[in-house]
Parts: sequence; C-alpha cells; structure tokens
Amino acid sequence: MDKKTDSTGEDTALESKRLPALAITLVFLVLVTVSILGIFAIQITNSKARELAQARLTSGNLAWSIAQQATDTFDEANLVLEELIERIGDDSSPAALERTRKLLGKRVLATEQLHGLFFYDRQGNWVLSSFDFQPEAANNAERDYFKFHRENVTLTPRIGPALRSKTTGEWVIPFSRRVNDREGHFKGVVLATIKMAYFDTFFSRFSIDDKGAIFLALPQGTIIARRPFDEKLIGTSLAKSQIFSMYLPEAPADTVMVKSIIDGVDRLFGYRVLHKYPLVVAAANSRESILLSWRADIYKMSAMIAVVLLINLLVGILLFKQVRKGLAVENHLKKARSVLQTLVLQDGLTGLANRRHLERNLELEWQRAARQRSSISLIMLDIDHFKSFNDRYGHVAGDHCICAVGQAISQCARRPSDLAVRYGGEEFAVLLPDTESAGAYAQAESIRLAVANLGIVHAENPTGAVTVSLGVHTCVPASSEFKTLLMQADAALYMAKRGGRNQTVPSS
Ligand code: GH3
Ligand code: MG
Ligand code: MG
Repeated sequence: MDKKTDSTGEDTALESKRLPALAITLVFLVLVTVSILGIFAIQITNSKARELAQARLTSGNLAWSIAQQATDTFDEANLVLEELIERIGDDSSPAALERTRKLLGKRVLATEQLHGLFFYDRQGNWVLSSFDFQPEAANNAERDYFKFHRENVTLTPRIGPALRSKTTGEWVIPFSRRVNDREGHFKGVVLATIKMAYFDTFFSRFSIDDKGAIFLALPQGTIIARRPFDEKLIGTSLAKSQIFSMYLPEAPADTVMVKSIIDGVDRLFGYRVLHKYPLVVAAANSRESILLSWRADIYKMSAMIAVVLLINLLVGILLFKQVRKGLAVENHLKKARSVLQTLVLQDGLTGLANRRHLERNLELEWQRAARQRSSISLIMLDIDHFKSFNDRYGHVAGDHCICAVGQAISQCARRPSDLAVRYGGEEFAVLLPDTESAGAYAQAESIRLAVANLGIVHAENPTGAVTVSLGVHTCVPASSEFKTLLMQADAALYMAKRGGRNQTVPSS
C-alpha cells in the first residue's frame, strides 16, 4: 500500500531543510565554552605582556640611574686624583708633600665614597697617603694596578677588582691612574680606594624587591659590589652568565630575563655599560615579584571563569535535555500522525485500503495513464445475497465473511501498483494501473474463483457458498474524468448481478 501523501511529502521537504537541533545545541555550547576560554587566554597573555613591559621599563630606568650615579662617584674620585697629580708635579719638597698629605686627608673626609688616597713612586714605594701613619717599608709594586700602569702608557683611570686595604683591612675598590714625569716617563701611580661599604648604602637607596639584585662588575664579569651583599661573592666572575656571555657582546644596554648563575633566581635585568668607565651595572627585580599581582589576578579571573563555565554547563545540560525532550515529543507526534494517516486511508474491518484511498490513487493513476497513454482497469465487486447471509448467520459472521473475501482479493492483487479496496459495505474494488482489458478480466476471474474456493457456506446462495459478482472496465484515459472508470465498472457489476451473479462482466 502506498502510504505517501502530498502532506507527508511537504513534511519530508521541511525536515530535509531542518538542521539537527541536538548537534546545534552541542556546537553552540562548545563554541561558548571555547570563546570564554579563548578570551581568558588572550586576556592573561596580554596582561602578562603588559606587566613584563612595565617591569622592563623599571629595570631599564633603574640601571640607567645606577649607572649615572656610579659615574658621578668615580668622577669625584677622578677629580681628586687629577688634583693630586698636579700637586705631585709642582713641588716635591718634604714641606709640600706634608701639605699635600693634609689636603688628601681633608678630601677623604669630605668625599663619602673615598677610603684613601695614595701615591707610589716608580718602584711602588709609598710616597704619600691620606693616612697619618705609613706602614714600615710599604711597597705596592706587586698590586695588579701598579703593574698595569707601569706596563701601559695610557693615562685613563683603571678600576680593579675589590681587595682588602693594607692599611685598614677594609674591602675597597682600587681606582688608579698612571703618573708621568715631564719627559713622559713612568713616575708612579696615584690611587683612590673606594669603600665597598659605600656601594651598599648607595644600592640600598634603590627600590627593588626582596629577591631582586643590583651589581657593579668589571667588563669581563668580575663582581665589584652587589646587593644583596655577600662577602664570598666579591671577586666572583659572572663571565659565564647569560648577560656577559650572550647579551653584552650584542648590546651595551638592554633588559633581559635570565636565571642567575649565583642563586638560580629568574630575574628581569636591566644592564648598562658605563660610558666613561670600564664598568657594567645591572639591576633586576625577580620574575616572581613582577608577576605577583598578575598571578593574583589570574586566580581571581580563573575563579570567575570557572563559575561562568559552570553556569554555562548547567544551562547547557538543561537546554540539551529540553531539546532532547522536544525531539522525543516530535518523534512521538510523527509516529502518531503516521498511524493516523494510515487509519484515514485504511479500512478498519479488513485492513485493506478504503474508498478515500482509492479515489486519491485513482486520480493520480488516471493522470499518469493519460500522460503515458497506457491502459488503466478497475474491477468492482459485490458479495452476492449478502443481506440474507447476514440475516441467516448474523452480523458477526457477516463481518468474518467480508474479511475473508477481502483477504482473497488482496492475495490476487499481487503487483505493487495494484490497489485492493473495500469500497463500502460488502463492495470491493481493485485498481489495476497499466493493465489491458484481458489482464483485468483474468484478474477478476481469479478473484471470483478464489472467493468461491473459500467455501464459506451460504445456504441462501444457489451455489450453497459465498460468491461474488464482478464488473470490469478498462480504458486509456482521454478527455473524460476518472469517475467514468468507477461508473463504467459499476455498470458492468450491475450487469453481472442481473446476469445471475457469481460472474465477471467486462464493460463494453
Ligand atoms: P445482491 O446479491 O444483489 O448484492 O444482494 P444483497 O443482499 O447483497 O444486497 P445488498 O447489496 O443491497 O445488501 C447489502 C447488505 O450488506 C446490507 C447490509 O446488511 C450488509 N452489510 C453492509 N455492510 C456490512 C457490514 O459491514 N457487515 C455486515 N455484517 N453486513 C453488512
Ligand atoms: Mg452491495
Ligand atoms: Mg451484495
């Protein structure tokens, strides 16, 4: 039975356009989640980059400022040394030397960073110092700075690695210059010792975090002063650190994130080579402190995002369930409608198609046959003497009889396009598309014999059993209406009744 109708055809077309609701809901939820996480990721990346950029600026400024002040510190010492060199050249009488010694004492007192001032002759013997006393047979010829100036003609100052003062035992930084006589020959060395303790105070003026660091080093990496101060580190070489091995050869000033080779702490260093003196300064805050407030923000934002995602998940689950429920209801309705459609087109007693179904199909087949110029046949049949069957055997037996006849008819209509119908009461019809009159007649006869062979006892029928009369009409549809097929077949049925029943009459 062909159950497909125009309305279901429309529904199918609508369904094919519809997108899968569950999949869309799922995709939507995933998209919302991914978007929230994406925005969060972008946000934390950007805020981290901002924090680091700000910290870079701070480290850079810090390094610049320390470099500036370190330059000032050595400039002051340099001025004093220049003054000393001048005085040595003017007059070398004991009285003049004593005056100069007193002046040096005053200079040391007046200049915070100075520990002492010295002049050694070409053999390294102490000639003058800012101190009142002088060690016995004091000679500094073995000191690196002395050897350097004796062997190098340059008059530019030299800054050396920190050492312990012979006079006071304090840690000092030697700042020295070569002195020449009038002929330009080596005359000796002037030395200003700078208190390392001064740099502690100096560094403490700058604000860095607890794990931050500041250092002053020679260009080859030897530490001269460092905050936090650790005596063991004085003279340690940073040559293998990333700053000295990688970055300094590339740029004289920069800000770089490196792991300290001294204590393993990650720090953002601003470093800078001094313009006037062979020194490198670097100042750093620890990565941990730079990102401290950023981390706190991340925790807060993560908690908020987690809440939003949880709400999204809960709403999503609710939405998902609702959509699924909706789909289940829709499915149920679809099934119910399909059952209803079947019922509307089906005969309740026999299960065959009903008259409405026949009329709908007949019209379609009629048009098709007209287009294809093919034959279409209709068999109309009616149970003989059925009124008296009912009267004699009762209505229930009558219904059983109708069912049995209906079954016999549907067994005879074997082609898929054949449509067996209970037309009404004890009348049936068989629509045979694409069937010539001879074929239709043969089909009608096979039905008649099949019913007779059922052998349903019917005492009121002259044959003693239930029989049917059949009228057959075949035509190739032309201008006439499809109802003529019904009328002609019915007329032939009437002829069969009149002709004595239990027979097939083809319409003329
Ligand atoms: P004929 O040979 O001329 O057809 O005689 P008939 O008695 O069959 O005459 P008619 O067609 O007028 O009678 C139809 C009877 O069929 C009337 C009604 O009692 C009976 N009938 C119609 N529908 C049903 C049904 O659904 N169940 C039963 N049991 N009987 C029905
Ligand atoms: Mg009848
Ligand atoms: Mg009848």
